[in-house]
Amino acid sequence: MSKVIVVTGASSGIGALSARALSRAGHTVYAGMRQTQGRNAPRVAELREFATANKVRLHSVELDVLDQDSVDAAIARIVAEQGRLDVVLHNAGHLVVGPTEAFSPEELAAVYNTNVLGAQRVNRAALPHLRAQGQGLLLWTSSSSVRGGTPPFLTGYFAAKAALDSLAVGYAAEVSRFGIETAIIVPGAFTNGTNHFPNAGHPADTDRVDAYEEKYGQLQREIPDRLGALIPPEADVALVAEAIVDVVDRPHGTRPFRTHIDPSDDG
Ligand code: NDP
Repeated sequence: MSKVIVVTGASSGIGALSARALSRAGHTVYAGMRQTQGRNAPRVAELREFATANKVRLHSVELDVLDQDSVDAAIARIVAEQGRLDVVLHNAGHLVVGPTEAFSPEELAAVYNTNVLGAQRVNRAALPHLRAQGQGLLLWTSSSSVRGGTPPFLTGYFAAKAALDSLAVGYAAEVSRFGIETAIIVPGAFTNGTNHFPNAGHPADTDRVDAYEEKYGQLQREIPDRLGALIPPEADVALVAEAIVDVVDRPHGTRPFRTHIDPSDDG
């Protein structure tokens, strides 16, 4: 059955590809972007072209997960236009890379604010609609770090993803009685020695890693030397998008609570 879906952080990466894949699967999709003008204007134009070329119901919507008013307005617009909202994909993410000790609490709070409190803002706006409908799905992009074994320099980000994961687990326990399902997507992060990270490649973070290692000696790295090399290959992002479509399309009550996608699993 066709669903009305909002995807946060849909200007790039997993969010952008998932929004497209979900629309091709027949759903009505709102691709949330923190700006639909300015920096993200080309993304909005690409989305429109995709929607026209593929004859799908794919719209952009301004949705900044840091701003409750922006979130409220986005959800209100979707419900006004479609009369309902069935699925929320919590995908917006922000990353810092560097020795944990070198980050101020404010910098780590910013990571937490986007990844965790961003989802909280969206839930506060969306859940009244899902509850009134007596059905819905909360989908969350977690992180393979919840399985343990995190490499150095990503702790600030992974701590936030662990908090997001816990938030998802907690929500599942609270909202299932309203017919609202929860499903957690856990993208694998490492394949062939190359890592994938959202918003990767901050020069400032690279400098921070270099300065730290110069002072205290090199940490055993599992990340490539240059952080700019960490953009996930499109094919791996597509795997995550496929898994998201699969979870959404399953009948209510049969969805796996947690879906691990490890691009290094060949079979
Ligand atoms: P991207 O950097 O491509 O995507 C992150 C998205 O979040 C961007 O669209 C970005 O928008 C958006 N975003 C950031 N801040 C806000 C905000 N305040 N409001 C709305 N949107 C915002 O990375 P990925 O696609 O890789 O990451 C997507 C999700 O998947 C993240 O939650 C990440 O933690 C998770 N993940 C990714 C893995 C990977 O291998 N890549 C592994 C495990 C988890 P903008 O363009 O405007 O900055």
